[in-house]
Amino acid sequence: MALNHNQSASPHVDPGYHLMELPTKVLIGGGVISVLGDFVKDSAGGGRVVVASGSNVASKVRKAVEEALPMEPIWVEVAAADIRNVDRVMAAATSTGCIIGVGGGKSVDVGKLAAFKLHIPFYSVPTSASHDGISSPFASLKGLDRPYSIMAKPPLGILADIDVIASAPRRLLASGCGDLVSKLTAVKDWELAHRVTGEYFGSYSASLALMSANTVLDHSRTLGSFDKESVRELVEGLISTGVAAGIAGSSRPCSGSEHLFSHYLDVLAPESGLHGEKCGIGTIMMAKLHGIDWRRVRLALKNVGAPVEASQIGIGDSMVIEALTKASTIRPERYTILSRRKLTRRSASLLAKSTGVI
Ligand code: ZN
Repeated sequence: MALNHNQSASPHVDPGYHLMELPTKVLIGGGVISVLGDFVKDSAGGGRVVVASGSNVASKVRKAVEEALPMEPIWVEVAAADIRNVDRVMAAATSTGCIIGVGGGKSVDVGKLAAFKLHIPFYSVPTSASHDGISSPFASLKGLDRPYSIMAKPPLGILADIDVIASAPRRLLASGCGDLVSKLTAVKDWELAHRVTGEYFGSYSASLALMSANTVLDHSRTLGSFDKESVRELVEGLISTGVAAGIAGSSRPCSGSEHLFSHYLDVLAPESGLHGEKCGIGTIMMAKLHGIDWRRVRLALKNVGAPVEASQIGIGDSMVIEALTKASTIRPERYTILSRRKLTRRSASLLAKSTGVI
């Protein structure tokens, strides 16, 4: 029986129900990668495990992972977040107890979807903190029929070694702040959709997501130092927003018009900018459309070292304008401020110029 939104579970279940799936355990702290074996042992049993990982990451933490696991893992190198790599991980994992995704983004997305398809547990071991996919039930993959995340399952466990994550490039950590601050407009869009379309709105999950956005807005100067304490704040914020999506049963508290803008840029310029960087820039403009303090968003992003102008990530003015005018078309059922305002090229240009994005 499928238990997703809007699917009939049983004639005895009221319509409007939804399923909350959440990570079962989170281990966070300096050096915790050394206890990875204990962390996954309930799922691994005495059998083997698959570790999905990018090549850079593998060279950085491979020794630590191998020393921590009691069994020799099967390493699968993930070069891209696409279906071909999901198939490769699945082929390696058919008779193993679980999949562990070790990396910044691609390996976690690929491992998460492979484990979901095989109905086996997935463990997320982030080596950077550039977006909330480390804990969310969603996987973002290229080559699908739609350029946004698909529903899978949240990781059973997340092991976040702050020593490892704090040594990630600052650009990745600043991008994570961009993904966090984007919850500000995502929640505004969700509230708007609730008012206009009657869509379900969960104030608890919305508040949880907003709390993470406020961590960036309120503490951008200290957060931007990316010392171990602030990296821990960032990671806990990203884990919380993934949990907010699990509670909402949808990506609504984490992804609104600013994400649609980012996804449209993914199509126009796949190699330019990181997910959180594009979402952060989108949040500045969507905040202005919502009538909230966009200058505060821009300043917070600047303080953490995230880009606030499209040219900083190699995106030209015309692409920004095209993305603003067309972003809502890639996911028409997701009502946001862009559905309401329907920007023309002229109004899009004015918005981008007035917020300093172009
Ligand atoms: Zn995101």
